[in-house]
Amino acid sequence: MKYVIIQCPYCGNYLAVPIRQKTKLCTYCGRRINVLRARRITYAKDGREASAILRALKAKKAGILDELYGRRGLK
Ligand SMILES: [Zn+2]
Repeated sequence: MKYVIIQCPYCGNYLAVPIRQKTKLCTYCGRRINVLRARRITYAKDGREASAILRALKAKKAGILDELYGRRGLK
């Protein structure tokens, strides 16, 4: 099953949704997302690839936040 990686419009977290699914309950903020209207980041060919992409996106996001508010602020 193919997945689409979307960004929650309410909290900004990334979520993997099976491609035919039209709505998704955000696992972070609990709000219902209209998948068709949400920002699509990319597609994955299966659940395994989808979770790998999510991990990479979260790491990237954490790295950017770290750069903006973390190390630089401590200097
Ligand atoms: Zn959310």
